[in-house]
Amino acid sequence: MKISNELAQQLRKQAEQDGLTVEELLTVLLKDYAAASKPAAEESEALRLSEARLQGLLESEIDLVCRYTPDTILTFVNDAYCKHFGLTRAELLGKSFLMLADEAQHAAIRQRIEEVKQDPSSRVRVFGGVDLHDEQTWIQWIDYGITDTKGSLIEIQAVGRNVTELINAQYDLLQQQEVLQTIFDSIPIMIALFGSDGRFEYVNQHWVEVLGWGVDEMNAQTDMLSLFYPDPEVRRTAISYMAAAEPGWRDFEVMTRSGKPIETTWANVRLSDGRSIGIGQVITHRKELERQILYAEQLELELRKEQELMEVKERFISMVSHEYRTPLTVINIYLDLLTRNLAHWPPNELLDKLGKIRQQAERMKVLLEDILRFSKGRAGKTEFYPQTFLLLSFCKDVVEEMRSADQDSHQIVVSGDEGIIYCDPKLLQHILANLISNALKYSAAGEIVTVNVRHQNEYWHIAVKDQGIGIPADEIDTLFEPFARASNAQHHPGTGLGLVIVKEYVEQHQGQIWVESVENEGSTFVVELPVAPAEVS
Ligand code: ADP
Repeated sequence: MKISNELAQQLRKQAEQDGLTVEELLTVLLKDYAAASKPAAEESEALRLSEARLQGLLESEIDLVCRYTPDTILTFVNDAYCKHFGLTRAELLGKSFLMLADEAQHAAIRQRIEEVKQDPSSRVRVFGGVDLHDEQTWIQWIDYGITDTKGSLIEIQAVGRNVTELINAQYDLLQQQEVLQTIFDSIPIMIALFGSDGRFEYVNQHWVEVLGWGVDEMNAQTDMLSLFYPDPEVRRTAISYMAAAEPGWRDFEVMTRSGKPIETTWANVRLSDGRSIGIGQVITHRKELERQILYAEQLELELRKEQELMEVKERFISMVSHEYRTPLTVINIYLDLLTRNLAHWPPNELLDKLGKIRQQAERMKVLLEDILRFSKGRAGKTEFYPQTFLLLSFCKDVVEEMRSADQDSHQIVVSGDEGIIYCDPKLLQHILANLISNALKYSAAGEIVTVNVRHQNEYWHIAVKDQGIGIPADEIDTLFEPFARASNAQHHPGTGLGLVIVKEYVEQHQGQIWVESVENEGSTFVVELPVAPAEVS
């Protein structure tokens, strides 16, 4: 809006007469106009109400409110202000508020007042001080200048909020951050913080030192994981391990930036905001130790095997020399007798002596066969040709053969269930013959040997029982080892190989063998064979 030159001249003239500036004259005129247009009572009521509202607002505030002149003298304070400093209004008004502030901050306060003089608009500043309990407090002040009509600063109004707790909390946070930062930067462990999008947000010093990659360089790569894990299989495992974020450590070989593979172990932690932390350690040293331990264990195992082999060889030599010497001596004696007086021997005695020689030769042959079977078994060359046949009938046939070889010096009884079995008849024949011949060998003449066949679920149980010398309880466990012979068997011929071969044949059929025995009362050897071995059924 523009006023006419005429009106402008009139105003200037009137102002000169009243000794006022044009602006001051206009203010007076406006006031008069407002007064004239409102009834006096109504105006004072409106003023009273708005003052009451403002007062109420100021007093109900928990914030500190004050007004002071540019030379820091308080002209208004609210209840919260009085309460905070523990002083009454009377003690505060008309005094400089500098008495309430740290002396160290007086200069800053004065400088702020100078600023307000230049520019009265509000600004936020935090000043420290002590409250009535002498406790350090921090107040955030928002202040602004109140100017007169000429724009000169009359007062400053300031609203303060006690931010001590906030500042203390921030301080604690900073302290914690410093502790964490120190740990992150000095600990010899790799630490990385991943965003929920999988991008790197932070890596510590050790990470950079070991892997050679910083955050920005890694984020600039299109497929960082394939650089870390060039092997796709390892990469897949690493990715799923990271995604699972399960507790515990897992070893991975990681490629460094310079292309050097290093052995590391990793743990992952998922944060509540979807981010995650990867923690890694270089374990080259540990792995090297593990390798050394493994190597030492392997060496020890080989050494033990070597020792066992030596022992087996020694036992073998002593067994062979012992078991061959007896029949050879017998053969030599008979041959000596025969060659010296051949013409004088009556035919029946001649036949008897030759029979004795054949018996000893037979014993040597059996021994040789056992050694051959044993070494075949050791080399894993036992042949296996399973067939289907009736088990009880088969056992009866074997017993019949044994009976005639035993020349009926024992009673052999066969009983049990008849049924089909699928197994190698040659191997089964050897199993039965061996167990029955042992039962006969370790029993006195006239004692009973029983062979019982039972069908149980998917298995056949063949039990060979005798009433012989039995086995000492503490020697039962070792009987299935090569050349093992019980202490009470020394006066009976034997090699200690029979049961080893039997056990091996039984296991070839996925079966088991065990023995129950009481010394001087007898033994029962039980063979359990599946009706049909799993892989051939
Ligand atoms: P051996 O040729 O010595 O009989 P085996 O391997 O057949 O060899 O048996 C090993 C050892 O088990 C025997 O030396 C003997 O001590 C013991 N043994 C085997 N069968 C019987 C049995 N029926 N009664 C007592 N002891 C037995």
